[in-house]
Amino acid sequence: MPDGRHSDGPTEKCGVVGVSLDGRDAARPLYYALYALQHRGQESAGIVTHDGFQQHSHVEMGLVGDAFGEGDLEALKGPTGVGHVRYPTAGSVNSCCAQPFSVSFKSGSLGLSHNGNLVNTAELREELAASGHAFTSDGDTEVIAHDLARNLLEADLIRAVKRTMDRIHGSYSLTIAHDDTILGVRDPQGNRPLCIGELDDGYILASESAAIDVLDGDLIRDVRPGELVVLEEDGAGFDSYQLVEQDNTAHCFFEHVYFARPDSRIDGNLVYDVRRELGRKLWEESGVDSDVVLPVPDSGRAFASGYAEAAQDDGADVEFAEGLMKNRYVGRTFIMPTQDARERAVRLKLNPIRDVVEGRTVTVIDDSIVRGTTSTQLVKLLNDVGAEAVHMRIGAPEIVAPCYMGIDMASREELIAAGRDTDEIREDVGAESLSYLSIDAVAAALEESRADLCLGCVTGEYPYDIEGESTDRDIVRPDIEDPHAGVADD
Ligand code: AMP
Repeated sequence: MPDGRHSDGPTEKCGVVGVSLDGRDAARPLYYALYALQHRGQESAGIVTHDGFQQHSHVEMGLVGDAFGEGDLEALKGPTGVGHVRYPTAGSVNSCCAQPFSVSFKSGSLGLSHNGNLVNTAELREELAASGHAFTSDGDTEVIAHDLARNLLEADLIRAVKRTMDRIHGSYSLTIAHDDTILGVRDPQGNRPLCIGELDDGYILASESAAIDVLDGDLIRDVRPGELVVLEEDGAGFDSYQLVEQDNTAHCFFEHVYFARPDSRIDGNLVYDVRRELGRKLWEESGVDSDVVLPVPDSGRAFASGYAEAAQDDGADVEFAEGLMKNRYVGRTFIMPTQDARERAVRLKLNPIRDVVEGRTVTVIDDSIVRGTTSTQLVKLLNDVGAEAVHMRIGAPEIVAPCYMGIDMASREELIAAGRDTDEIREDVGAESLSYLSIDAVAAALEESRADLCLGCVTGEYPYDIEGESTDRDIVRPDIEDPHAGVADD
C-alpha cells in the first residue's frame, strides 16, 4: 500500500466465494459469482476446485471474463471450490499475490481466498520461517495458509482454525477449501463482509449477496464476526462454530459508502437503502438551495436521489438530473500513478451536459473525496459550461487517514482532508460551498453505534493495533510466540 510503513504486505480489497454442490461441478457457479464480485477486484481472478481426489487450480491476471476460457472451466473438476478476485494496489501488477493461494501439505491440500489485511503478518512470517516454513510471496494469505497447515497436523479442523484465528490479527474474510471441505471464516470484529446463501443444489459463501442473487440463490444470513462456517459435502447443509467472541464489531462503513454493490445486503442492510438514507441525512445536515442536484456517476447516484428526495419533501424547488455523463470505457482513474494522469482521466471519464447546467446553480453529490482530484476537476468543468454556482455535498465524513484494513485509499500526505479544515478543502476544490456528512449520521444510517464501526480513515483511530497509529479500543495483540496459546485441547 502507498503508506506502506506500517503495512505488512500488499493491501488487498478483494472478493471471495466458496461453494459446495450436490454432484454438479462448482467451477461455473464460482465463475458467475466472481463476475458478480468483479467490482471488488480487477487485477486477477482465480478458482480452486476439488474432485474428491485432487485439487484443480486456475488463476490468471485480468478480469473474470478474460481469465477463464471454456477449457479452463472444464478442467476445474469437482463439486466444491473457492474463488477470488483481487484488487490492484497503485502501480503494482503482481502475479505472485493472485489468489486463491493453493498448496499441498502433509495435512492435505488447501486453497485460500482472503479479503482484508492482517497487521501482524511480518511477526507471523518470521515465526513460521524460523520453524521451517518457506514462503513464495510477501502476502498475508500465504502466512494464513502455512499457519493453518501447521495446526492441521496437530489438531482437528475446527481447533486448527481456532488456533490460527487466535494468532492472526487484522481484518479477514476467508473462504477456504481444505480438500473437499469448504470453510468460511470472518474476523472477530467482522471488518469485511461475508455471507451464506442457499442454492438449489448446495450452499455458497460470498463477500456480497449479489453473488448469491446471480446464481438464483437465497441469502441466509451474514457470517458472524468470529464465526467459522463449514459447508457439508454434497451441498447438504452447513455447520456453524462461534470460535472467537468479542464485545464490539468493527464493520467497515466504507463498504456501504463506496465499495460494495448497491444491490448487496451487508450486515442486515441493503447498501442501496443505506446510501439513499445517507443522502437524506446530507440534506438534513447541510442542504443548500440550488436549481439542480447532480450525482457523480456511478457512486454518487443513490446519495443524490436520497438528497434530492429529502429536499423535495421539504418543499425545495429543485430538479434531480443526470447532468454528468460517464464514459464506461475509461479505466480506474483512482489508481493511476501520477496526478496529471488522474486529472486527464477524470476529464475523459466525466463530461457535463451543458444544457442541464448552464445558467443554473448546481449541487454535485459524490460519495467521498479522497485526494480531491475528482471534485476539483468537476467544479472546474461545471464552471466552464456556465454553472452559476457549484455546491459540493459528500455522503461520507472527511477521509483524513489511510486504511490498513483492506481498502486502497491513498497515503496520508495525498489525502486532501488530512490535517485541514473544510473551508481550506473547499477553497482547494474551488466550490461555492462544501459539506461532508457527520460520523454520527453514518452510524445512524447503519443503525450501529460508533463503537461497532471501523472509522479509522475518518478519525485516524483504528480498531486494531497498528504500529505507529492510535487505536479506539482495548486490544491485546496475539502472542504468536506460543502457537497454541489460549487454546484448550479438549
Ligand atoms: P478523489 O478523486 O481522489 O478525491 O477520489 C474520490 C473519487 O473516487 C470518488 O468519486 C469516489 O467515488 C472514488 N473513490 C473513493 N474511494 C475509492 C477507492 N478506495 N478506490 C477507488 N475509487 C474510490
